[in-house]
Amino acid sequence: MSIIGHLINGENHNEYTRSQDVYNPSTGQVAYQVALADKATVEQAISAAQQAFPAWRDTPVAKRAQIMFRYKTLLEENAERICELVGQQHGKIVHDAMGELTRGIENVEYACAAPEVLKGEHSRNVGPGIDSWSEFQPLGVVAGVTPFNFPVMVPMWMFPMALMCGNSFVLKPSERDPSATLLIAELLHQAGLPKGVFNVVNGDKEAVDTLLTDPRVAAVSFVGSTPIAEYIYSTATANGKRCQALGGAKNHAIIMPDADLDNAVNSLLGAAFGSSGERCMALSVAVAVGDEIADKLVNGLTEQMQNLKVGAYSDKENDFGPLISAEQRDKVEMYISSAEADGATVVVDGRNTQVAGYPDGFYVGGTLIDHVTEAMKAYQEEIFGPVLCVVRVDSMEQGMQLINKHQFGNGTCLYTRDGEAARYFSDNIQVGMVGINIPLPVPVSYHSFGGWKRSLFGDLHAYGPDAVRFYTKRKTITQRWPSASVREGVNFSFPS
Ligand code: NAD
Repeated sequence: MSIIGHLINGENHNEYTRSQDVYNPSTGQVAYQVALADKATVEQAISAAQQAFPAWRDTPVAKRAQIMFRYKTLLEENAERICELVGQQHGKIVHDAMGELTRGIENVEYACAAPEVLKGEHSRNVGPGIDSWSEFQPLGVVAGVTPFNFPVMVPMWMFPMALMCGNSFVLKPSERDPSATLLIAELLHQAGLPKGVFNVVNGDKEAVDTLLTDPRVAAVSFVGSTPIAEYIYSTATANGKRCQALGGAKNHAIIMPDADLDNAVNSLLGAAFGSSGERCMALSVAVAVGDEIADKLVNGLTEQMQNLKVGAYSDKENDFGPLISAEQRDKVEMYISSAEADGATVVVDGRNTQVAGYPDGFYVGGTLIDHVTEAMKAYQEEIFGPVLCVVRVDSMEQGMQLINKHQFGNGTCLYTRDGEAARYFSDNIQVGMVGINIPLPVPVSYHSFGGWKRSLFGDLHAYGPDAVRFYTKRKTITQRWPSASVREGVNFSFPS
């Protein structure tokens, strides 16, 4: 069985002492082995990045950006290959993988603007004959640790701008679907990136812990589940590193009595079940205001859900594919059963879904659960599967209180025709990304992405303008070239 290795200093490394199965979730069969890097291998990648850093830092930013322009073209030319690998190892349908890649490429496009965004700030004549300016200098070697659910897009939230800011990079992608990530790393080298500037190590906790504790790593970007995000943030910062750690989610949509119901039903279907609900911006809770709209919503969803097509990644007609693993399938089914045991009504049941021709695939069908309440485990925790819970409330205020009390605060949405309600909602909701009649309010690449509360540990969001701040340190230079006319004597008071 072929082994998936690492990319260190521009070369493939396939040697390993430990490895792990990589599945094709559509068939449920093991397709590859992935090497799990030990401490020494990760240290080799950090050394390569450290050695490449000075020359890369000193490469003019416009030259760095030219590599990104070529990279964008190569990504587009290789889109089918990339999406095929995403489909094989993640299970998402090829059209969904294409959406992921497109959103990733948008971050590459934004990174092409590095010469513009890194211009800095300049103030002339802040005092007699004195000019002052701020520069944004790279940090050095920075690291990224990414989740399985977006093996292409989430790494691209990180490395394009980190590299354009002049840093070198070590990426530790998810060990569950590493091949597409390795392919985009190879394309970056084809685009002309010097060896050692970008390195990929596959692995698990041992590899991540090495990145978190090695003094040569200046900063860590993480995206994944909340318990691990919290661990990464506390360990990285305790080791003196800058850190941003994005975690899990439970995204609610409030459906107001005046909402365009057809639009709400259609968009909830896509946002709840697309990618099998394995998205941190998946809408997993529909909060219906009043029983009348709740009944109509549940009826509308139930009717449409009869047409959902679940199956292998390779069939473009399918709406969504399998879950990432047998364990994740069992976990999702456990949450459905727990809601049922707690008194909720399973209106559409995706447990024990069988897909013809794929008896061992990790499938759960679209599931709709009504009468879910705040106390239930299925409400409190992230399910990360194709499960939509309906909670009934009496007012928008009550719905907002639920959202504001929830441990997560990644994304949320309000369906309404009332502009005043929309404004009140976006002003007062304790969530980082808000949609008004937009179910998945994922910010475009020139804004930044991040949740609140236990959905993000750290101060700066991912990609966009926050990425420029995260991957650089500010240096402010104040300069005077004294001439005879402005030369001063000794002054012991604070300069003003
Ligand atoms: P995960 O936390 O299991 O893994 C993420 C990364 O952390 C992987 O690279 C993994 O190898 C590493 N890791 C796992 N356990 C570790 C440990 N004990 N010590 C050190 N490193 C460890 O997450 P996942 O299952 O791959 O991804 C799904 C999760 O990611 C969901 O909770 C989802 O909401 C979240 N997610 C969040 C965002 C966001 O932007 N907020 C985006 C995508 C995914």
